[in-house]
Amino acid sequence: MAEFLPPKERTKLPRQVMPEQDPLIRAHNFEEVNLGLTKEQAILDAQRCLQCKKPTCMDGCPVEIKIIDFLELVVEEDFLGAARKIKEDNVLPAICGRVCPQETQCEAKCVLAKRFEPVSIGRLERFVADYEMSKGITSEIPRIDKKGKKVAVVGSGPAGLSCAGDLINMGYDVTVFEALHELGGVLVYGIPEFRLPKEIVRKEVNNLRNMGVEFKTNVVIGATYSIDELMKEEGYSAVFVAVGAGLPWFMNIPGESLAGVYSANEFLTRVNLMKAYKFPEYDSPVLDCKERRVAVFGGGNVAMDAVRTALRLGAKATIYYRRSEAEMPARDEEIHHAKDEGVKFEMLTTPIELLGDENERLHSMKCIRMELGEPDASGRRRPVPIENSEYIEPVDIAIVAIGNGSNPLISQTSPDIDTNKWGNINVDGDTMRTSKPGVFAGGDIVTGGATVILALGAGRQAARGIDEYLTDGSW
Ligand SMILES: Cc1cc2nc3c(=O)[nH]c(=O)nc-3n(C[C@H](O)[C@H](O)[C@H](O)COP(=O)(O)OP(=O)(O)OC[C@H]3O[C@@H](n4cnc5c(N)ncnc54)[C@H](O)[C@@H]3O)c2cc1C
Ligand code: SF4
Repeated sequence: MAEFLPPKERTKLPRQVMPEQDPLIRAHNFEEVNLGLTKEQAILDAQRCLQCKKPTCMDGCPVEIKIIDFLELVVEEDFLGAARKIKEDNVLPAICGRVCPQETQCEAKCVLAKRFEPVSIGRLERFVADYEMSKGITSEIPRIDKKGKKVAVVGSGPAGLSCAGDLINMGYDVTVFEALHELGGVLVYGIPEFRLPKEIVRKEVNNLRNMGVEFKTNVVIGATYSIDELMKEEGYSAVFVAVGAGLPWFMNIPGESLAGVYSANEFLTRVNLMKAYKFPEYDSPVLDCKERRVAVFGGGNVAMDAVRTALRLGAKATIYYRRSEAEMPARDEEIHHAKDEGVKFEMLTTPIELLGDENERLHSMKCIRMELGEPDASGRRRPVPIENSEYIEPVDIAIVAIGNGSNPLISQTSPDIDTNKWGNINVDGDTMRTSKPGVFAGGDIVTGGATVILALGAGRQAARGIDEYLTDGSW
């Protein structure tokens, strides 16, 4: 069994480099880019932890995983124990270990980050979760008296899944209603296979199914049933609304309705959910990208996912972003991966018109160059158009990735649920109660587009709020 070295020796151990597929090879396949730490690397990296008296890393974790304890268990080579320790606070570690922005959360707060490199907390989370999965260990059916009350969860993204998992463990009968035919929300329809293999999401969903959670797909709440119908006619004592923020924003420039223009949501959903990347085994539900010029507008993670997906479908893929690289909201790792794979970046440039032929098919775009002015409300320097810098650029396919808003279906069909000016549901921050008795909400539908871990934390908080409400009955 490995042991911790004296503290000074620990700081001499190098942060372990994650093995990854060669960029030239992975640019042509949809297999996972990061390959995971080896057991030896995992132990070495965990041994770097100083086991601080005040583990500041935990302040950076939105669900307060007991990082210091799980790292100690990794050093002791008790990987299953480490996975169990993480699962006390995070039910989806194999997913969060892959997609959480650790560099701005736990790892940014690790004391080692001040003078050295932080402990690879995210990579270690992934390592122990994968280890547990490789042993075929699944969660047990909860041995708890049933409460005899039914709860409906609307949406099967991370918020819905974590809420369902906690409620079933508390003894409630839980049904998850999902509008799509696949379960997992953005984890399956948004984040591509090469960052998060869908098999991992499927295993997590199956785990919940084995624990007793019932899943109903192809059911749109607000159309198939209203929330009132769920509560008054279908016998649900409480409802958790976790429908995400899936309504894409457009740029409102001329030409956005031309054939060849997609929202990133539509493009990624078609490729991920309808398996366009397996063409010709599956029919391709997106325009042929091979050798085509594909322009992606935006600088966030969604833009990186869209551009890297287009690249893998054979496109000459370029990001157009109106600010500079320093202001890009995407994770550094995603930007580097995209560059290594051959994606081009046109910074300080934005399209102002999309141009089509007589068949309404996109063929080019008018762009304008920008410079950075004073900071705006977001704290980032405002992009200002440079006069007379317009130019025409040929383009075959354009993908708009500038953000998502909330779908109004729930608020339109349940007007007694209060929303803010962006259409997000207003909740009490402690209990996740909405303005409608018995109805709770959490995840992106409350915060606007955020992160997997925040959605997951909101789901857990809502489960506690629902339990409190169904136990004492007062609203
Ligand atoms: C392309 C992309 C990449 C991202 N990458 C990252 C990343 O790397 N790291 C990270 O932390 N975050 C990332 N995010 C953000 C993250 O995925 C979201 O913050 C998170 O998934 C929100 O979870 P949720 O459960 O609130 O909603 P969602 O994951 O959006 O799930 C909502 C579910 O509700 C269903 N639904 C909607 N309306 C209804 C209805 N009326 N009836 C029934 N079901 C309904 C939807 O079909 C969906 O399945 C990314 C987002 C996108 C789009
Ligand atoms: S802050 Fe860093 S060194 Fe300290 S306990 Fe957390 S991971 Fe270990």
